[in-house]
Amino acid sequence: MDFLIDFIEKRDCFEPADKLKLILFAARTKPSTFVSLKITPRNIGDKFHFERHLKDHNIFFNVDKPKSFEEISKIKNNKIVWSLKGTWYGYDLFKDKQHQRLFKRYLSFVKRQKKDDADIAAGKVYGYPACCIKQYIKENDLDWLKNNFSYYSYYKRLHDSERKFPFIAHTPCSTKCDISRKLNIKYKNIIKKRAPKFFKEFSKKKYFRTDFIVEGENNLMVGINNRPLWVKQDAHEYTVIANKPYNKHFYLLSYLTKEKEYAKGSLLSGSAEMQYNYADIKINKLKKVIPNLVHIRKFKLLGRKY
Ligand SMILES: [Zn+2]
Repeated sequence: MDFLIDFIEKRDCFEPADKLKLILFAARTKPSTFVSLKITPRNIGDKFHFERHLKDHNIFFNVDKPKSFEEISKIKNNKIVWSLKGTWYGYDLFKDKQHQRLFKRYLSFVKRQKKDDADIAAGKVYGYPACCIKQYIKENDLDWLKNNFSYYSYYKRLHDSERKFPFIAHTPCSTKCDISRKLNIKYKNIIKKRAPKFFKEFSKKKYFRTDFIVEGENNLMVGINNRPLWVKQDAHEYTVIANKPYNKHFYLLSYLTKEKEYAKGSLLSGSAEMQYNYADIKINKLKKVIPNLVHIRKFKLLGRKY
């Protein structure tokens, strides 16, 4: 038995997407990974425990200073209230010194704002396919992106990629990418074999009915004035919040539609079917628009900026 995989599978300190990456890393399939470890008053010992496993496995790692995180604690009338839940630590894990060194080079490219060089280095650190790295860099050029994708086709491809390849962590160059397809199958088989309990939970379809609040609409922003890249939109990708908790969490989900336009604060009745890391949302009808929606969060999502 691998105690590290056992620990990752059983504990609540990692989100499912991070458990997936960690198990693949611990199974020596991914060369490096980045994950967030969340500590609340209920699992204070997990950080020590996790690091002991890393040392036992001679894994090279860097750990960030702790940062706070919050979650939606209640939704009442027009207010979406976030509360402090605990602290989180970012971990960079590497299979060897060489990958750790390459990661340092990546950071130095980021600091010097050499975006393309940084993306090439990051792709190598994390073991992404060359075709997907190349495409990712092409899309750094927003003019190219705008000329080759409409709003809808851009977001649709991202949604389709998540559905088609739920076990990979990179953005595939296309939904037809053969290397990503093979990687997805390989990763799926490893997870199924090494962490069957997690595999079952991650693959299970979870269905719930709820009302959703339209929190905002996505678009890529450009320039110093932060203008939307696609001014003429052939669809809408909304961030919606389920207004009742499921598994003790208020979920923030994305909903892509070509059909209707909804104002911020729209309350929609519908349902969500979740599997892996995505949700299929069905909307029945618009119930009303909540006036003056207040949605303030103090901290950003779990993530990093250099
Ligand atoms: Zn590819």
